[in-house]
Amino acid sequence: MSEPKEGADDFCIAPILPAVSSEIQHTDVPSLSDLSKRDKPWDKHRGNADRVQGYYWSSSEFRDYAQRVSQCSQLLQFNLVPDKAAGELRLKLTNSRFCRVRHCPVCQWRRSLMWKAKAYKVLPKIVEKYPKHRWLFVTLTVKNCPITELRATLQHMNQSFKRMTLRKLWPAEGWLKSVEVTRGRDGLAHPHFHCLLMVKPSYFGTNYMKQDEWVELWRSCARLDYNPILDTRAVKRGKQPMQLIPELLKYCTKESDLVADQEWFLELTRQMHKLRCIATGGILKDYLRELEQEPDDLIHGDEDQERTEVDEGSLWFGWKRLEKKYRMVDH
Ligand SMILES: [Zn+2]
Repeated sequence: MSEPKEGADDFCIAPILPAVSSEIQHTDVPSLSDLSKRDKPWDKHRGNADRVQGYYWSSSEFRDYAQRVSQCSQLLQFNLVPDKAAGELRLKLTNSRFCRVRHCPVCQWRRSLMWKAKAYKVLPKIVEKYPKHRWLFVTLTVKNCPITELRATLQHMNQSFKRMTLRKLWPAEGWLKSVEVTRGRDGLAHPHFHCLLMVKPSYFGTNYMKQDEWVELWRSCARLDYNPILDTRAVKRGKQPMQLIPELLKYCTKESDLVADQEWFLELTRQMHKLRCIATGGILKDYLRELEQEPDDLIHGDEDQERTEVDEGSLWFGWKRLEKKYRMVDH
């Protein structure tokens, strides 16, 4: 394995080298991360997918997932497109095959990119239509639970959230809720909801809810016998809620937690089966309901989809498992 080449961040496409036929590496074949800084994350995500694939393989219950993840994003096709701003060529993903297994690190990364792209496009339209409305970011938690109780805990939290939206005190005219599950050092699961709420301007007048009122509302809706940890943040008047998108539409479980422990990961898969991670309601549902579904396209979402008239050709990169790198291949 070689270190990335010094100064190789600039494009140095030629010469096209012969096909890489085996894992015994020709390190002079350009790697994707050498050629394109912005595509560096591919190596990390596909590397973690290899680990997840091994976890699935270890259990007869999940052999099908192992198979699918093993075939995910093995080959990436990029077109070379002119980057007008930088005045150079850059790589744009145009083709690959994704497994769409929920906890596949590559697929959850792509899915998150697609959702974010959609939200960045749509939220400004809502702000334009409802310029006086204000935005809150609310995080709702309950006590950590054993991973084996995650499903029941999330179902309870979902019902509690629903109850909350029906309460008189509920201030939002539109909301988006995303589920995040993190893993504590003790192996307990920490499920929580990140919520974007769209509230009337009067919320910051007569209808304002203080922190302890929020705690009381969530406590009562979730029928808890303790005060839950809860965080509310308001987007400043005149500011847009776009700054909250990365936090709202990130992964359901971050990769370092996914790969930390095999048994935990397998149980997470069982517990989360077919549970939806993103839900929308009220006015926001009209605009953002698409986020409740798996995106059809995992290729183009982070890109400007405008077709470029100039065809500068394609490059292919194949995953090199032992090296944990994508390297250029003939195709
Ligand atoms: Zn995948």
